[in-house]
Amino acid sequence: MKYVVGVDVGATKIRVGLFTLSGELLRATTTSTPQEGSDTVVAGLIVSKIFELTPDPRRDVVAVGVGTVGPIDIRRGDVVGAPNVKLRNFKLKAPIEEALRVRTYVVNDCVAAAWGEYTVGAGRGLSNVVYVTLSTGIGCGAVIEDHLLLGKDGNAHEVGHIVLDYSGRFTCGCGGLGHWEGIASGANIPKTAAVLAREWRGPETEAYGRALEGSITPEEVFDYQSRADAFADYLVNFLAEVNAAGVASVVNVYDPELLSLGGSIALRNPKMVESIAKKVRKYVVNRLPELVLTPLGENAVLVGASMIALNTPPNLVKLQKG
Ligand SMILES: [Zn+2]
Repeated sequence: MKYVVGVDVGATKIRVGLFTLSGELLRATTTSTPQEGSDTVVAGLIVSKIFELTPDPRRDVVAVGVGTVGPIDIRRGDVVGAPNVKLRNFKLKAPIEEALRVRTYVVNDCVAAAWGEYTVGAGRGLSNVVYVTLSTGIGCGAVIEDHLLLGKDGNAHEVGHIVLDYSGRFTCGCGGLGHWEGIASGANIPKTAAVLAREWRGPETEAYGRALEGSITPEEVFDYQSRADAFADYLVNFLAEVNAAGVASVVNVYDPELLSLGGSIALRNPKMVESIAKKVRKYVVNRLPELVLTPLGENAVLVGASMIALNTPPNLVKLQKG
């Protein structure tokens, strides 16, 4: 039997999935992302996981698709200067191809997810599909007029760094001020909660106390809100407003027919998606697209990566044919 392999390289974990040539996920395995070692340690680990999934990948695997944390050098298929992985630079395409002698394609993780949404997800049959992840970070991928947008180095649509606030209260992990990701991503929600708590004049609730300490987690924020904590409710509403403004900016830039939301913050809090849908209207100039929670769930990048391998976009083939 012949297969393709999809790989999701995240900042903390790597998932490797074995798929049939009709795109069905057969088996998947998860491992921690190496934080030290040589620049081929990640690729080596991926290869060993592929061997665990199928004994003779050189014979049976037709192609490998990788969706990875960025930024990337798309011509080489390497990760270059990833801010969220200690091992900032590592090779993917060349060492995987060398070890397996199998065509390997590497794209940004949200770009892979957008391709998955377009080919087999909620965007099937549509020509203009955008995927946005609300997770540890905030990212985006776009298929416009049936064309997967990549950019000169493969790092198009860094929408997490769209400026949504210029009060100077919110600093992004990248150092910039007022970035969407710097306010509303999972990594930055604790800091945003602390900023809002210092300004809060309402009742001193449990969530308020935890936020003031700077240690409240995103899960706790949503949990407190579900228990009618007034400060948590204010904070979640603030985050939904920021996310709606960000989503509206994406709609204004790409004019998609469908905008799919994924990532842990969206997937674990479907009410956040409903709330964004309600708030987005007042910020858009373009006709509103359909707004959905991705049906691909936690597998969005993995499935997208498998579709990058199975149904490779022609512009990517051209860039990574070597
Ligand atoms: Zn930023």
